[in-house]
Amino acid sequence: MFRSRNRNQGQSQNRHLSRGRRLAGVGCVLALLVGGVTACANIDAAGAGAGSDGDDRPVVLTTFTVLADVAENVAGEHLRVESITKVGAEIHGYEPTPGDIRRAAEADLILDNGMNLEAWFEQFVSGIDVPHAVVSEGIDEIDIREDAYAGMPNPHAWMSPTNVQVYVDNMVAAFSELDPAHASEYAANAAAYKEELQGVQDDLVAALAPLPEEQRALVTCEGAFSYLARDAGLAEQYIWAVNAEQQATPRQIAATIEFVRENDVPAVFCESTVSAAPMQRVVEATAAEFGGVLYVDSLSEASGPVPTYLDMIRHDANTIAAALTGTSK
Ligand SMILES: [Zn+2]
Repeated sequence: MFRSRNRNQGQSQNRHLSRGRRLAGVGCVLALLVGGVTACANIDAAGAGAGSDGDDRPVVLTTFTVLADVAENVAGEHLRVESITKVGAEIHGYEPTPGDIRRAAEADLILDNGMNLEAWFEQFVSGIDVPHAVVSEGIDEIDIREDAYAGMPNPHAWMSPTNVQVYVDNMVAAFSELDPAHASEYAANAAAYKEELQGVQDDLVAALAPLPEEQRALVTCEGAFSYLARDAGLAEQYIWAVNAEQQATPRQIAATIEFVRENDVPAVFCESTVSAAPMQRVVEATAAEFGGVLYVDSLSEASGPVPTYLDMIRHDANTIAAALTGTSK
């Protein structure tokens, strides 16, 4: 599961890059010898680098906030976990900045979701030699049914806490390879966090279990809930399959309106990282209410409703259950 264009070289270079944070000039020479000109140029451009604040822990860079939160739970105090994309960012079609690429070159490990979630990822890491791990490896995939992505796996596998237990195992393997001295602590952190994940999974299923048969339909903007719908026994309908430039076409909106009318769906939802305007058109054309904002592709700020992954799953399950049963009114 550990991906690097040259794993051994990447590991070796990481040690030099870490040293480079403390001794910038020397690090540049070492990186030049070991990793090539690109790494050296990146260190120069970044100046003293991420360690300039005195934090010399290895840096784990994730592609989005949800992965960062899960990774922090596994890493504990021994790794410095960061996210490339910020809270609220659209993550599918994100365009990395030169600063992002510099951060990636300085990282000791990069975690991506995989399953074509980060369309920008290959280009993002193509010029750097830092190991990366695909955290979704080994999960039970659900394929997308429609649109340009039909037949490809739905990338939103983290919307099932059961799947995230697999993410956690993959993180433990990657962190233990990066930092073998703390491998037993990563395993212990993971075991504790997996218990919490299982608890949230059980709560999710319990929260949605009372929905009557005719209300067991989840209608959202993006088709990001395939795994949650599977876990909770809901039918899934969406306006568009995956956030992209071509979305919310008249045909897609018409199909959603038809589904809501035919199934008497009481409430519909939209995700926090996209405009709810297309779903408002569904609300106007049907008897359904807007049931609330769901969080999928990004956590909220610390002061917001879903600062952690566990908060996010709880929030979404409760929002869906309340709106579909009418208890949110
Ligand atoms: Zn998404």
